[in-house]
Amino acid sequence: MILTISTTHRPATDLGFLLHKHPERVQQFDLPFGEAHLFYPEASETRCTAALLLSIDPVGLVRDREGGTLYPYVNDRPYAASSFMSVAITRLFRSAMRGQSKERPALVDQPIPLVAQVAAVPCDGGLALLTKLWEPLGYTVEAQPQPLDPARPTWGMSPYVTLTLRHTLRLAELLTHLYVLLPVLDNRKHYWVGDDEVEKLLRVGEGWLDAHPERELISHRYLKGRRRLTEMALARLLPEEEGAEDGSQEEALVRPQRLHEQRLDRVAALIRNSEAVRVLDLGCGEGHLLERLVDEPRIQALVGVDVSSRSLQQAHRRLGLDRPRPESNRITLLHGSLTYQDERLRGFDVAAIVEVIEHIDPSRLDSFERAIWAAARPRRILLTTPNAEYNVRFPALPEGEFRHADHRFEWTRDQFRQWADAVASRHGYQVEIEPLGPVDEEVGAPTQLAIFTDREATA
Ligand code: SAH
Repeated sequence: MILTISTTHRPATDLGFLLHKHPERVQQFDLPFGEAHLFYPEASETRCTAALLLSIDPVGLVRDREGGTLYPYVNDRPYAASSFMSVAITRLFRSAMRGQSKERPALVDQPIPLVAQVAAVPCDGGLALLTKLWEPLGYTVEAQPQPLDPARPTWGMSPYVTLTLRHTLRLAELLTHLYVLLPVLDNRKHYWVGDDEVEKLLRVGEGWLDAHPERELISHRYLKGRRRLTEMALARLLPEEEGAEDGSQEEALVRPQRLHEQRLDRVAALIRNSEAVRVLDLGCGEGHLLERLVDEPRIQALVGVDVSSRSLQQAHRRLGLDRPRPESNRITLLHGSLTYQDERLRGFDVAAIVEVIEHIDPSRLDSFERAIWAAARPRRILLTTPNAEYNVRFPALPEGEFRHADHRFEWTRDQFRQWADAVASRHGYQVEIEPLGPVDEEVGAPTQLAIFTDREATA
C-alpha cells in the first residue's frame, strides 16, 4: 500500500524539513510487520511529493500469531490501507505529527496546500462514508473505485478505492487525520484494542474529533465496536457540563482557528527541542500541555500546578495517573496558586505559563512576578497571552469584551511588551516576544508568546 503527500507550497521541498526526511534520500525502515520505504518521486521548487510505501510480510503476520490458529495466508491485509499504515505514519513522521521542525519552526504552524493520496482504501461504507468522515474537516474528497481485476471487467468492482484528499492545512493535522481515519475506514484492526487505545484516540483527536459531527461513528469504528471503550471515549469527548458555560464563548471564538492546539503545540515543541530535563507547567489546567510532553524520554520531572482542583482531577485522568505506569512517577500535579512563593517550584529548566496570566487579577501581578521570576526562577519561561488587538477579527465577539468571562484583562502588543521588558529587567532575564497563530498585517497574531531566559544561567 502506498501513501503520497504532495504540496505546492513554495519552496515545495520544505516538505522534507517538515517530515524530517531528506528529499534526495531513499530510506528504509523495519517495522514489526514488514518494511516501510520513504522516497520522493518529485522534489522541485514548485511541487514536492513524499511517498510512503509499506510492504507487509504476510507470512510473518501468520507466523507471529499466538495460539496457532490458522489465520488465512491469503487476504487483503498486506495490501489494504489499514492501521498498519497508521503505525507506519507514527513511526516515520512522529516529529511531524507533533508539529516539530528545527529548520522550519514557523512553517509547522502554517496551513499549506496539501494533497494526500492513498491506494487501496477499503470502503465498506461506500463513498458516503468517505464524505462523512473527511468533508467536515474541510477536505475535498475524490475516490476512484478500483476493479477487482482490470483484465476481467466482468468480475466487477472491488471494495477498494484510491482516495485523494485535498486541503490547505498544517501538515501535522493531515497526518493526525490519516492516523485516525484510515483504520476507521478499514474497520478492522491488526492488534488488540485495549484501554490505552482510548487515550491514544483522544490525544490524537484533540482539537478536531470533539467537534466532528461523526465523532460517535469514528470512536465506535476506531475502537472496533467495543462498547465500553466507545462510551469511555465519548464521555470524554463531549463537553463537560460544569464549567462549559464560561468556556463556551471562548471555545466558539477560537475553535475555527484551533488556536489552543497551535499554542500548546508550539510551546511543547520549544520544550522538546530544548535540553530541558525538569519542566514546570504553571496553570496546567486539564493537562493538555503535560500530555504532549509525557513521552519525551529526556524529561525527568514534569510538574503541573493549578489553583483549580477540578482541573487537576481532569489532568490526573487525562495523564492516566489513575492507572500508574513506570513513567508516571516523573509526573507530579500540585495544587497551588502562582501568586504565592512555593519552594517546590525551584530548580527547573523551563516553565510554561500558557494562557494563565490574563486570569490573574492585576493587583496580584506583582506577587505573581515575585513568586515566579524572583523565587522559583526557572532558567526559561514561555508565557502566552491573548493579543487584544486581534479581537476585532473575531466576528462573534462584541467590541470591548474579553475572549473569556474569567479574563481580568487582555493586553495589546505594546502593553505586553512593556510588562515583559520591565519584568525581565527587574529580575535579570532577557525576553523575546513572538506572534503565535496566523499573523494579520494590521492587528498581529491572536496570541503572543514571550520567551524569558535567565541571563545568569546562559552566561
Ligand atoms: N495552561 C492551560 C490552562 C489555561 S486556562 C492550557 O493552556 O490548557 C487557565 C488556568 O490557569 C486555569 O486552569 C486556572 O485554574 C489557572 N489559574 C488561574 N489563576 C491561577 C493562579 N493564581 N494560580 C494557579 N493557577 C491559576
